[in-house]
Amino acid sequence: MKTLQNIFGSNVFSDRVMRQRLAKNTYHGLKKTIEEGAPLTLEVANGVAEAMKKWALEKGATHYTHWFQPLTGKTAEKHDSFLAPQRDGSAIMEFTGKQLIKGEPDASSFPSGGLRATFEARGYTAWDCTSPAFLKEDDAGNVTLCIPTAFASYTGEALDKKTPLLRSMEAVSRQALRVLRALGNAKSKRVTSTVGPEQEYFLIDKEFFDQRLDLICTGRTLFGAASPKGQELEDQYFGAIKDRISKFMRDLDIELWKMGIPSKTKHNEVAPAQYEMAPVFSTTNIAADQNQLVMETMEKVALRHGLVCLLNEKPFAGVNGSGKHNNWSLATDDGLNLLEPGHTPHQNEQFLVFLSALISAVDKHATKLRAAASNPGNDLRLGANEAPPAIVSIFLGDELSEIMESIAAGKPVPGKGQRSLTIGVDTLPPLPLDNTDRNRTSPFAFTGNKFEFRMVGSSASISGPNVVLNTIAAEALDEIATRLEKAKDKNKEVIAIIKDAMKQHGRVIFNGNNYAEEWIAEAAKRGLPNIKSWIDSLKEMDTAEARKLFAAYKVLSKRETESRYEIYVEHYVKHINIEARTAITMAKTLYIPAVVSYTKELAETINALKAAGAPAEVPTEHLLKISGVLKSAVEKLGHLEAETEKAHQIVRLVKRAEAFRDKVFAAQAELRADIDTLETLVPDDFWPVPTYAEMLFSF
Ligand code: ADP
Ligand code: MG
Repeated sequence: MKTLQNIFGSNVFSDRVMRQRLAKNTYHGLKKTIEEGAPLTLEVANGVAEAMKKWALEKGATHYTHWFQPLTGKTAEKHDSFLAPQRDGSAIMEFTGKQLIKGEPDASSFPSGGLRATFEARGYTAWDCTSPAFLKEDDAGNVTLCIPTAFASYTGEALDKKTPLLRSMEAVSRQALRVLRALGNAKSKRVTSTVGPEQEYFLIDKEFFDQRLDLICTGRTLFGAASPKGQELEDQYFGAIKDRISKFMRDLDIELWKMGIPSKTKHNEVAPAQYEMAPVFSTTNIAADQNQLVMETMEKVALRHGLVCLLNEKPFAGVNGSGKHNNWSLATDDGLNLLEPGHTPHQNEQFLVFLSALISAVDKHATKLRAAASNPGNDLRLGANEAPPAIVSIFLGDELSEIMESIAAGKPVPGKGQRSLTIGVDTLPPLPLDNTDRNRTSPFAFTGNKFEFRMVGSSASISGPNVVLNTIAAEALDEIATRLEKAKDKNKEVIAIIKDAMKQHGRVIFNGNNYAEEWIAEAAKRGLPNIKSWIDSLKEMDTAEARKLFAAYKVLSKRETESRYEIYVEHYVKHINIEARTAITMAKTLYIPAVVSYTKELAETINALKAAGAPAEVPTEHLLKISGVLKSAVEKLGHLEAETEKAHQIVRLVKRAEAFRDKVFAAQAELRADIDTLETLVPDDFWPVPTYAEMLFSF
């Protein structure tokens, strides 16, 4: 058994490998590009490509691929072998600098929202040298060199999730640096946003999965009566990990470690059959790449164990769904965490300024954060009586809130066990923050040295949410930097900045229980938006204000923002349509025939009983009850078919999407209710699909 240290990063063309294998000037040339954004010369690219090829071939690779993230939210790869046939019938292994830095996949079958005319199918992929290349291995023994790339149209418009993420990182870095400079920091050269995404998921037996068309086609159960036992005993969270699951987790860890993904934490989650994995955080674009690999690897490794990994946000009704906790902070190249309260008045001043920026940004752009966390699966969590609610608020904890409020009110800052001090940054005491202060219900919680954005869906790419976070932070920091740069008395200005943030945006701070009914009313009183559906949240991205914001920080051009909106609305329609078609098929070909055949058996039993002169009231009553629900189910099925048909006829995209939400989705839920009732009336051996109890508890 190889040691963990030997395994970790063994399939990564890491900095260590590059230092060993690249010529000195090639290495330094590349580092200059990675760290300072200097243009990459072809000479350097050639040197890197040659070393990368040699390294990959030694490790058994036969192919390379430009690995990218189209707007499907998944990853894409087209494999090319290193093979270059020669005239004499032999072949050499070829991989040039040009092949490393640029690829030209046929882009015609990726969503582009009108950015790429169909006659111009070409798009191109460009190497993101800030995220390391790695090798992917599969069970068939294939080894593929994967080069993380951005994907754009020929006219330079982003067609992927990575491009705006990189641009937003640039934007927040620039503005954060301006603030640092204005506060007297002359040393730090770059600021990067850092992310640690905790990934929740379900595992179920593949034999059950294979029998459920809904899981196969939509990733969630569209039917299923509640299991007699749910999560109420609270015996799953952090429970002892079963052997079969433990074997999966071990395999998963090894696969992730090989690719340099620092998988750190694993545990049982709240719902039965639900689990979580969390890596050590890293630079945002690397974290985003790695999270895609985490999801893909989970799905792959599960199959090796006869399991299926469900990443959908709500695979089972009645028990918790899955999210992705996006832990986010800002760090400087010289090791400062800008959301870390410090020990000196100066560090605290800096911390409180960045905190103020985040409070302003999150309040001002709450609807954009909500939109960025939306996908069809998350509609069943956010705003549907589940964690977290659709209202964006910030948890600061009582102590930190009190400090901020005191400063805003011009009152002495409370100090724990210390004398209270009057305001003035020079005299700010060390902030006595209690890092254990936790609130599990908050969608945006300060957790000691970072913010945890908990609304993101488990199956979603984390790029979108971090594009929004970085961009809104950039805007708030930009405004603060401008004020500080102009200020004669910086200390006074810092206090004014904190005061203004609290006065204008303090309403977004909420330390109580976000699941409580009263919070919904309280939030409405405060004027905080409560957007219940994905479609409505998307509209917040389709405004002149939103387009202006993303364009101003060069994250997304107006056209790019528009095209994304269109793609996501279309995606919603397609998704709900697939669900409706799946539900219709299952009802017609599985549930209704099963119930009909049981009613036939019941009728025969009743006849036999009557012929024998035995009492037949009980089975007769049962038959009538089932027939009644069956009739209703058949009507609901007809209704669902009709509504789907009608919704398709609506020409305007948004209206069509709304019909899919209000009519089709609603009709599907009504059908489900009847079928689930039938499930409780029909014998188990007549029921055509595995039950919730079987899927959630048989391990
Ligand atoms: P919990 O479940 O208690 O919230 P976890 O340990 O599961 O905590 O996850 C916390 C995540 O936050 C980890 O991925 C961790 O690496 C990440 N994290 C810690 N510090 C930072 C930071 N400065 N920036 C971004 N993420 C961070
Ligand atoms: Mg966790």
